[in-house]
Amino acid sequence: MRIPLLVTLCMATRFGALAQGQFDVVRSKINGEYPSLFELYKQLHANPELSFHEEKTSARVAEELKRVGFEVTTGVGGFGVVAVLKNGSGPTVLIRSDMDALPVKEQTGLPYASKVTTKDDAGNEVSVMHACGHDLHMTTLIGTARVLASYKTEWHGTLVLIGQPAEERGGGARAMLKDGLFTRFPKPDFCLALHDKADLAAGKIGVVPGPAMANVDSVDITVRGVGGHGAWPHTTKDPVVLASQIVLALQTIVSREVEPGEGAVVTVGSIHGGSKHNIIPDEVKLQLTVRSYTDEVRQQTLAAIKRIARGQAFAAGVPEDRLPVVVVEDEFTPATFNPPELTGRLAKVFKGWVGEENVEQVKPVMGGEDFSEYGRTAEKIPTCFFWVGGVKREVFADSARGGKSLPSLHSAFWSPDPEPTIKTGITAMTAAVLELMKQ
Ligand SMILES: [Zn+2]
Ligand SMILES: [Zn+2]
Repeated sequence: MRIPLLVTLCMATRFGALAQGQFDVVRSKINGEYPSLFELYKQLHANPELSFHEEKTSARVAEELKRVGFEVTTGVGGFGVVAVLKNGSGPTVLIRSDMDALPVKEQTGLPYASKVTTKDDAGNEVSVMHACGHDLHMTTLIGTARVLASYKTEWHGTLVLIGQPAEERGGGARAMLKDGLFTRFPKPDFCLALHDKADLAAGKIGVVPGPAMANVDSVDITVRGVGGHGAWPHTTKDPVVLASQIVLALQTIVSREVEPGEGAVVTVGSIHGGSKHNIIPDEVKLQLTVRSYTDEVRQQTLAAIKRIARGQAFAAGVPEDRLPVVVVEDEFTPATFNPPELTGRLAKVFKGWVGEENVEQVKPVMGGEDFSEYGRTAEKIPTCFFWVGGVKREVFADSARGGKSLPSLHSAFWSPDPEPTIKTGITAMTAAVLELMKQ
């Protein structure tokens, strides 16, 4: 990221002498590290590993952090990496990067595009790609480590940097917590994470006070009926018709039951039943994803799904012992909540470092993130999750003018603009730490 002279002069007045000095030191350190960080990024990008299989990736993250002077522990909750750097008394700040990639065949055409294929846990041959930008998060984590380790006069306390496995499948954060992240290592006073954003221009930071990402539940409904011949429907209880009615009735949860303005999604993503034209089957299976921002709406939505499935079956005259079976899967991803006070404090700091015009308050999204787990333990540690724009400025401007639509995260075409994205990510994370750990 180039900072024009005029902006530099503005910084001088905005920060005062000490902060301007900090800005100059951090910027020149980031610029100096960038060539080697870009090499690291390309290496990570070309060698992605699926969730729970981050063996080589975590070894590289551990090696990089060790080289900077952190005390590194590997194998925490699977392939998790925990790196600690103590620098006198002061708060403990945890920074998390996820490390896993996705079963996507990369089509970016980049010279360092992934050509990796592997077997997934079901034994299928799949291509693998860092389509969510976790390679960028790791590069930013290591860049931030290098800057802060070389600038210990400006912060005091303990840094805990973690490489977390299996974000995409959920479970990685929980596994690290279960393996003693907050008991075997210094307990954080703050937890921070960033994520690249596929609908925000590179060089920008997106902040979201309050709920930032959703509760994610998976629900399975087995709609049971009484099967028979397709030409004798009167002797059956047809689960295909019943499942169809349930799918339509579920649409009223968000439109009629949840208070307008509260976020919720009920999507039936899969419906399967039957084997042949003229056979009424015994059962139909539905798979749902259910999203919300609050515990209350989550409970309300899940209860409504159960009530509607049973109620529709009663209305169809299904016998009591053939009522639908509704299962809410145990492992859910809780909503990511950014305490407004901490988020506002960091947003102000970001504006000082990258310019008011480059920090935007963006809308919460219905995606899920298991970073939320770190704020939901008994300690209720304040967490802040923020976005770093990744779209090349010209591409973003063209799309805003009605040009080509932008590929989303998880797309085979997603390719963040590395230099401004990595540099802005390191700048923001470094600035956040300097704010939280200043004397
Ligand atoms: Zn993702
Ligand atoms: Zn992600």
